Amino acid sequence: MLNLFIETVKKLEITSSTKEKTETIANALKQINIDEELLLFSRYLCGIIYPAYSPKKINLGTKLIVQAIIKAYKLDKETFQEFFKGSEDISECISKIYTQYKSSVRKSIIFSDRSIPESLKDIQILFDDISNISSNIKKVNYIIDLIFCLPLDILLTVIKILTNTLRVGIKEAIVEKAISVAFNKNIQIIRKAMFYTGDIGEVAVHAKNNKIESIKFKLFHPIKVMLASSEENIDEIFERMEKDIWCEYKYDGIRAHIHKEDDRVEIYTRDLKNITDQFPEIVFFLKKIEQSDFLLDGEIVPFQNNKIMQFSLLQKRLGRKEKIDIAARENPCTFIAYDIIYDDGKLVTDLPLHKRRALLENKFSSSGLLFSKYKIVNTKEEFIDFFKKSKEEGREGLMIKKIDSIYESGKRGINWIKYKETLDPLDVVIVKAEQGEGKNAKYLSQYTFAVWDEKKQNLLEIGKVYSGATEELLEELTKKLQEYAVKELENGYEVKPIIILEVAFENIQISNRYNGGYAVRFPRIIRERTGDKSLDEINTIEDVKKLYLKLQKEAN
Ligand code: ATP
Repeated sequence: MLNLFIETVKKLEITSSTKEKTETIANALKQINIDEELLLFSRYLCGIIYPAYSPKKINLGTKLIVQAIIKAYKLDKETFQEFFKGSEDISECISKIYTQYKSSVRKSIIFSDRSIPESLKDIQILFDDISNISSNIKKVNYIIDLIFCLPLDILLTVIKILTNTLRVGIKEAIVEKAISVAFNKNIQIIRKAMFYTGDIGEVAVHAKNNKIESIKFKLFHPIKVMLASSEENIDEIFERMEKDIWCEYKYDGIRAHIHKEDDRVEIYTRDLKNITDQFPEIVFFLKKIEQSDFLLDGEIVPFQNNKIMQFSLLQKRLGRKEKIDIAARENPCTFIAYDIIYDDGKLVTDLPLHKRRALLENKFSSSGLLFSKYKIVNTKEEFIDFFKKSKEEGREGLMIKKIDSIYESGKRGINWIKYKETLDPLDVVIVKAEQGEGKNAKYLSQYTFAVWDEKKQNLLEIGKVYSGATEELLEELTKKLQEYAVKELENGYEVKPIIILEVAFENIQISNRYNGGYAVRFPRIIRERTGDKSLDEINTIEDVKKLYLKLQKEAN
């Protein structure tokens, strides 16, 4: 099945049509009769090596792969950079070096007692090996072994999956559709199964074996959060919500789903990352709650002396690998619950909001758990008063929820609306990072940023941001961006689109300076949102266009 995977990727690379991509994948899926191969095939296409619920991680950045290439071919840095500069990404760079220098056959440690991979299962064994190696030096040596012993097309496939650069523009939604076509299953059922498992591989296998309906929700398999659409017009909000308008404070923190069963507590972000280790104080508190199994939805916020603190303190808590307890003492956080999704063995997503909230409060009222503040209003005066009160208390706006709405995981619908007074900042991704000037000369501090095109297939550049970041953030971003470099530029790198920033700005202009066709004027970084928002969720060029038109209207 490895050959089928390589061929499928080649076909996908040459089409941008969603329909053709879906057909290509569906045709391939139909040919796979081994469950494990089907599972891995579907996951790899979506750039997933381990599903979100798995504790296993690869932890191998481009930097280590670069070190491996340099060491393997005994290249000096300049020679390597020549290759790197002219390549689209790291796998193309490897391909050029490999072709020029050929691989001198050498004795392999990995393949001394096993054969060269023929199946996706064989590839997964390599990934498991890498995930089990804790030392970077050993990881580099492992990659060197792969460079020397794998045939080029297999090597490139491994590197592309490892660095998530298959570049076939595949979103989970396309693979979901392909599964539904290949195995003749209703797309809604496939989506529901995805909601329960969060694992495209498992869904594909169940669909093939006609067992898709038997998939049930399991705790500790993270699911997507329900999202809101944005609305600034109060009349519009009243029209949509009709009556008994549920207004809730909008907290500025990190969205979190907390799963608990007996003594086990796990915290997941909205992009399904497990961040349990980052917040020991929250885990400690939740473990003490004497309630049965549950899944709560809410916000993690910095919290000191019984007060919610500013978001920037939370930033210091994310992505830490060391001294977590000290950070927790210096900048403690808490969890504010606003919804309950699973209770005592049952999903409660189909209960209306007011009933879920009653359940939440009844169950946890004596536990010390904090709840979001809300009020049901029926007049605009009441709405504005509550909004003002939220601002006075330091909140960033209101979430308006339809009082009888069900919990729709992963959906940005009209049942939840966010209401803020100011122009929304943009969520963008860094695609190029360049060395700064003056006091920032030691950092990669100038970031070209991009948003999705309309089909969410390609990223389009719309500006360059130089300001707003603290020195601490610049230092951190520089380290990460060096890791994510895919191509050398004169004064920096083109980087993998991983780092997500929230960027405020003064204006938007039509411009041919960037390939997005717009230029965001005077952008400044508000914060990094990498752990909190996924790449899929950043703004699109449509949003930029809407903002542009709005600003034009206001100016006239
Ligand atoms: P923003 O950038 O304004 O935080 P977003 O794009 O991250 O919004 P939206 O779906 O537009 O996400 O807004 C909902 C977000 O608001 C949630 O993801 C959550 O983190 C946050 N939030 C804060 N308070 C609440 C609340 N009471 N109910 C629901 N979500 C809330």
